[in-house]
Amino acid sequence: MNFKKIIFIIGTRPEAIKMAPLINQMKEVKDISVKVCLTSQHKELLQQALHIFSIKEDHDLNLMQPNQTLAKFGSRALSALDVYFLAEKPDWVFVHGDTSTALYASLAAYYHQIKVAHVEAGLRTFNKYSPFPEEINRTLIGSLATLHFAPTQLSKSNLLQENIKEQNIIVTGNTVIDAVKETYKKILAGDLTVANEIKKLVIPRQTILITMHRRENFGAGLHVICEAIKNLAIKYPSFNFIYPVHPNPNVKNPVETILGSQKNIFLIDPLNYVDFIFVMAASHIILTDSGGVQEEAPSFGKPVMVLRENTERPEAVDAGTVKLVGTNKDLIISEFIQLMENQAYYTKMSEAINPYGDGQACGRIIDFFNQNSEA
Ligand code: UDP
Repeated sequence: MNFKKIIFIIGTRPEAIKMAPLINQMKEVKDISVKVCLTSQHKELLQQALHIFSIKEDHDLNLMQPNQTLAKFGSRALSALDVYFLAEKPDWVFVHGDTSTALYASLAAYYHQIKVAHVEAGLRTFNKYSPFPEEINRTLIGSLATLHFAPTQLSKSNLLQENIKEQNIIVTGNTVIDAVKETYKKILAGDLTVANEIKKLVIPRQTILITMHRRENFGAGLHVICEAIKNLAIKYPSFNFIYPVHPNPNVKNPVETILGSQKNIFLIDPLNYVDFIFVMAASHIILTDSGGVQEEAPSFGKPVMVLRENTERPEAVDAGTVKLVGTNKDLIISEFIQLMENQAYYTKMSEAINPYGDGQACGRIIDFFNQNSEA
């Protein structure tokens, strides 16, 4: 293989977590130079995640501004990445998933005829406003990219339907499983340390983990979900409900107002990845609207209630590892009670096989890249 210069572009926490094991493994490959460039669409959460994987960025475009609109961020990202790619002249740009960062990096690379490799390609809801704007971001990246790393067969078939050439797609599993397995192994081996205050909060098998931050849930949906959670915390007082709250004021303000006074609900700052994985592993049930958490939690056999009306991850619903409960208060409460009271129901969900892979996705991506990067 000829020498290749690759740049990974990262903007948010989930991109950092899901790209980190790939970056570290790619750095070991002969004849490849790897650089990491941040847009810092997220700031602290992103740095926290990179730090856990001992990754230091080569460049930070530092594009975050308070209350930035999608279009303003997009235009600034496109201009900044245009200048950066012109100076760096990489052979390949690696992007992840469905963020604005990934979209504008793909477009800027395309304008310079630099090839794009898309990690976590092919997820679709076929509803352009849910998730918004991620559904369209991911679809557009699909048409800009040259190589497509699809986590599942279903995501591959979505790409084939859009006339992406089959020889440019490989099913790899999701790199988040590589990340979660590597991190948990290090926690168990004592190579990564969990904060003492987090250890104290976690009661084994009596912990409920909550995350919620998606734009679609802002407003009425978020209120309904919080009301349901409050009811459940009152009904199950011996359980600790741990909720790392996303800093976005659209989330933080209503969450603190509705849930702040319930004594077995712990509203805490976002956790670093090590602490978060520790809590996840110790949880009994997880309530989330996060994509990554839906993929990770089944690796620990944890039933997940998904606080969204639809999902671009239907494999997990089909496999039975997650259940969509949306923003329907009665459904959230009844599903939770069912999991708490019906042991057979709980066991069936917790023993379902994780459809997102075996923790070997990065190796498959690198092999495929090595075989196809001259194309
Ligand atoms: N996560 C974390 N700390 C937290 C909450 C989540 O490290 O307090 C991790 C989680 O394990 C997953 C990722 O962040 O890998 C998910 O990010 P997020 O929910 O922001 O985005 P999404 O997955 O919905 O794109």
